[in-house]
Amino acid sequence: MMEEMIQNCSRILFNTPILKKKNIAILGSTGSIGTQALEVVKAFPDLLQVTILTAATNADLLITQALEFKPKAVVIVQQDLYSKVYEALHKFGVSVYAGERSLEEVVEYDNIDVVLNAIVGAAGLRPTVNAIKKGKDIALANKETLVVAGKLMMDLVKDNQVKMLPVDSEHSAIFQCLYGEEDNAIEKILLTASGGPFRGRDREFLRGVKKEQALKHPNWTMGAKITIDSATLMNKGLEVIEAKWLFDVDVDQIEVVVHPQSIVHSLVQFTDGSIKAQLGLHDMKLPIQNALTYPVRQANSFERFDFVNFPALSFERADTNVFRNLGLAYQCLLDGGDRSCVLNAANEVAVDAFLHDKICFLGMSDLIEATLCQLSKVKNPSLEDLLVIDLETRKVARDLIKSM
Ligand code: NAD
Ligand code: MG
Repeated sequence: MMEEMIQNCSRILFNTPILKKKNIAILGSTGSIGTQALEVVKAFPDLLQVTILTAATNADLLITQALEFKPKAVVIVQQDLYSKVYEALHKFGVSVYAGERSLEEVVEYDNIDVVLNAIVGAAGLRPTVNAIKKGKDIALANKETLVVAGKLMMDLVKDNQVKMLPVDSEHSAIFQCLYGEEDNAIEKILLTASGGPFRGRDREFLRGVKKEQALKHPNWTMGAKITIDSATLMNKGLEVIEAKWLFDVDVDQIEVVVHPQSIVHSLVQFTDGSIKAQLGLHDMKLPIQNALTYPVRQANSFERFDFVNFPALSFERADTNVFRNLGLAYQCLLDGGDRSCVLNAANEVAVDAFLHDKICFLGMSDLIEATLCQLSKVKNPSLEDLLVIDLETRKVARDLIKSM
């Protein structure tokens, strides 16, 4: 009682916001971001409550998570796993749904404050659109949503007066650098990149790399798709596009800086030349927590960064001659229209083909470039147009693989 009174007095005196308990829907709860988000929820049982969990195919993990976190509902996307999940959960009062459509509908539940979208790929787009239209705040890990339809998504966010809270570590860093800077213009965003497992290598070396090598990221443990994207630097290309839409800057205001230690998560340079950076260990729980507890910085017991353990933080330019995907992403952003949507869909097909040994590492850029050439540009696509273009692009890219 006394402690609560002291806390309230300090909040009034120092104007610190109080975090009201939030109901969270986690889309993609069985993935790398999803499981780390559940660790964050576990760390704040009085502040965060899970109401929805969803997975594509991992029914066993979804069931285990639901038994522990007791959500109101779960979705298993793969239809034939429905009975397994239903049998395990309905007796505990958990509603069970299956299929892609359910994923879109479940975000409309009343008792959701924030939808954490941790789905991989353009599959995350429709549920995000629905959630925004229902007035839910979004914690966005699924960068592909903004790559496919950045302008339309940010317009929706504005029209529905919801918050789009970045989870991607670089964008969370930029977001945090902008606290208190609402009236100050950004001169430049410096987006850091680890450089991936092949930093400093030439094209000759990349010609022969195998998926096992590409799946070994030096700093982060992540899902397979983003790990390959990190090895090709497409991840950074997608993040340049994500940054453009989240922070409303021009393409030439976003510079990629390779920083192999992944401690400086990104930086913002203001018009007086001053630069702010956000630093921390490479632990996705921090940006996830930031998005889920925003605007409060809630005390936690996660591991702390120590400068002594990282005496040298280094920075270098990205090599777009070797890592062509980064250049392709910049070009698509400059070209506008449907180009980023085509880039994303072609890249999803390319990564999948590489992971299934159908094309080589450098073949991924060749495929993306050839797909972009084959489809003529659509200038002002609607959301529905983009969904059609996404499907069409996948078909073109798959056909091109057959002739490679
Ligand atoms: P992951 O592959 O580990 O997990 C993906 C999740 O999405 C799983 O729960 C899976 O069941 C679900 N899913 C997959 N395909 C789906 C589909 N078609 N429909 C519905 N659900 C589907 O991926 P991840 O590494 O957690 O990444 C998720 C997103 O977060 C990606 O957009 C990625 O770029 C972004 N991200 C990840 C990290 C990271 O550290 N892992 C960091 C920054 C951003
Ligand atoms: Mg990132």
